[in-house]
Amino acid sequence: MFSFTLETGAGDGPRCGRLETDHGTVETPLFMPVGTQGAVKALSPEDLLSLRVGMILANTYHLYLRPGHRIIERLGGLHRFMGWTGPILTDSGGYQVLSLGALRRISEEGVLFRSHLDGAPHMLTPEDVVRIQNALGSDIGMVLDECIGFPCTHGEAWEAMERTLRWAKRSLKVVREEVPVTLFAIVQGGVYADLRRACAEELCGMDFPGYALGGLGVGETKEKTFETVETVTPLLPPQSPRYLMGMGTPLDLVEAVARGVDMFDCVLPTRNGRNGTLFTRFGKIQIRNSRYADDDGPIDPECGCYTCRNFSRAYLRHLFLSRELLAYRLNSIHNVRFYQDLMERMRGAIRAGTFPEFRRNLMENLERSEEEEEAPGGQGAQRSRNGGGLWQGVHTRSAEG
Ligand SMILES: [Zn+2]
Repeated sequence: MFSFTLETGAGDGPRCGRLETDHGTVETPLFMPVGTQGAVKALSPEDLLSLRVGMILANTYHLYLRPGHRIIERLGGLHRFMGWTGPILTDSGGYQVLSLGALRRISEEGVLFRSHLDGAPHMLTPEDVVRIQNALGSDIGMVLDECIGFPCTHGEAWEAMERTLRWAKRSLKVVREEVPVTLFAIVQGGVYADLRRACAEELCGMDFPGYALGGLGVGETKEKTFETVETVTPLLPPQSPRYLMGMGTPLDLVEAVARGVDMFDCVLPTRNGRNGTLFTRFGKIQIRNSRYADDDGPIDPECGCYTCRNFSRAYLRHLFLSRELLAYRLNSIHNVRFYQDLMERMRGAIRAGTFPEFRRNLMENLERSEEEEEAPGGQGAQRSRNGGGLWQGVHTRSAEG
């Protein structure tokens, strides 16, 4: 079962909705923590539930290589295997294959690549990828796409986009004739508006239950990213969910929601947590900084997470510097909760009709904090005045290896 109901908003502005799956209903705009290998790093499913995480993301490429989708299928599917009862979206592996670089060769048939684990050769076709996601029991699967890097020429972007379209058609055939996976299409086309438009229009004609924007956040400017989002979202059917893959600084989320995006995933909250970078309403903090050595306050006094309710910045700094395993868990708990709170606050603001004020406030708070945090260094203050510091982030499409 899969359905999406739009509650407020329309095609190209902020909107709230509900995604129903066999494993429960989640509200959108939605953020999915990344569980590449069938685990959200440092967090148990119990933690995720208490953090009010609705849906998580896992990765087809990684689970196919290890432990193998057949084993997971025999053991009752990915939900049972990892002890997670909520919905799971699986990424196809298009982006992982891109990042293999010299280890892969793309042909019309599919992708020939060498495993990053043991160098063994594998061939994956768009059809295989749908069947693997069916074996995993994904609530939402993604088509295999050809993700290109940045920069790339119009010709290269066109070729990859055309192949992505042909692969989407082949994937859909498997869904209609063989395995009933809820499959989202991926709009490609690089930073070229004409290609993005052509790709979106063609995919909409194939009638997928949802549409993703892929190949963004790979090195293009933020202006270009959001210009592309703005080009694509109005072309997608308003009644279908839109998913921006792999991008997720707090500002990315707000800016994309403002343009009608419903779903996100990113490794940022968990990866940053493990690196000691913690999100607050007033910007990020580096817990290792000596200024927190005797700071008795919580990370964020407004946060209600287990970490903030029980531990001081001084203790978290000590754990982090001592490389205690608890540091990873407590930091991840806070960061994931921060992201879930952010999405809840956005949904509240959209419903109340106050999203523009919410967006402005968030931006102002983050700007101020960047100046405070970075001013002594000089360079940082310069960057934040240009807006660049705010946008720091990496493309992290669904791989936290
Ligand atoms: Zn907290």
